[in-house]
Amino acid sequence: MDAALREAVEAHCRRLEIPLVGFAPASRWDEPRFAPLVPEAFRPAAVVPGTRTVIVIGLPVFLPVVETAPSIWYHELYRTANELLDQHAYRVAAALNAAGHAAVPVPRDGYGSIRVLLEHPVAFFSHRHAAYLAGLGTFGVSNMLLTPAYGPRIRFASVLTAAELPPDPVLEKDLCTRCMCCIEECPAGALEPGDYPASLTDKRACAARSADLFRRHISPCGRCIAVCPVGDDRYLFEEGDRDAVRRAREHVRSYGGE
Ligand code: SF4
Ligand code: SF4
Repeated sequence: MDAALREAVEAHCRRLEIPLVGFAPASRWDEPRFAPLVPEAFRPAAVVPGTRTVIVIGLPVFLPVVETAPSIWYHELYRTANELLDQHAYRVAAALNAAGHAAVPVPRDGYGSIRVLLEHPVAFFSHRHAAYLAGLGTFGVSNMLLTPAYGPRIRFASVLTAAELPPDPVLEKDLCTRCMCCIEECPAGALEPGDYPASLTDKRACAARSADLFRRHISPCGRCIAVCPVGDDRYLFEEGDRDAVRRAREHVRSYGGE
C-alpha cells in the first residue's frame, strides 16, 4: 500500500478543486457481500486487467440550478460538470502515469448517446457502484448514490490504476430517509418504493423521458435528485421563501424548460 502516493493523488485533486475523492480496492467488487451488485464483466479488473485500485472523483451540480430542471440552465450545468469530470479524471490518470503507475480514466458516461442508452440502458462501467465501494455514499430508493455533502446531486468519474493505494471504508450509515419524494416526483413512473438492489429503476422509462427532453435541449430530467432531502447542500442553499423559489423556477423554465 502506497500511502504517500494516495496523499499525492488527494493533493492533486485538491488543486483541481475536486471536492469528493474516494479509493476502493478492485478486489472489493469480488467480495461476497458486494459481488451480486456488479456482473463480473463490468468489474474494474475485467474492464482493465491489472487494476488494483479505483479512484472515484465527484463534482456536484448545484441545488438551485437542479431545482429548475428540466431546463436549459441545468442542461448546461450538467454538460459543464461532465466535461470537467472527464478532464479531471484524465489529469489524475496522466499524473499517475507520469509517476510510473499505470492508470486510465473512465469517462463519466459509458454509453455514448441517449439513442444508444434507449437500446441498451447499461454503461460499461458503473461509477455509482465505484463511488459506493469507495465509501462516498449509499444507495437511495431512487437508485442514485446519496452522499452526505450533496445527496444525489453529484456526478462521478473514475480512474483505474495498477497502483495499490490505501482504501476508504464503505459507508455503513444508510442515508436514504425513505421519504418517497423521488417516487412521487418522477414523471415517468420509473421508480419503485423498494430498496436498491431489490427494487430497480425502470431505465428504459427514464431514458425515454431523457430522450424526449434531449430533443428539446433541456435534458436530463433530474426531478428525483432535485427533491431528495439528503445532502448538506440543502443548508448552504436554504432559501426559506418557497414561493420565491417557485417563481424563480418558473421564470427559468419559461426560457426553454417545461
Ligand atoms: S431522472 Fe426523471 S424520469 Fe428518471 S427516474 Fe429521475 S425523476 Fe424519473
Ligand atoms: S427522495 Fe427520499 S426516498 Fe428518494 S432517495 Fe432521497 S431520501 Fe430516499
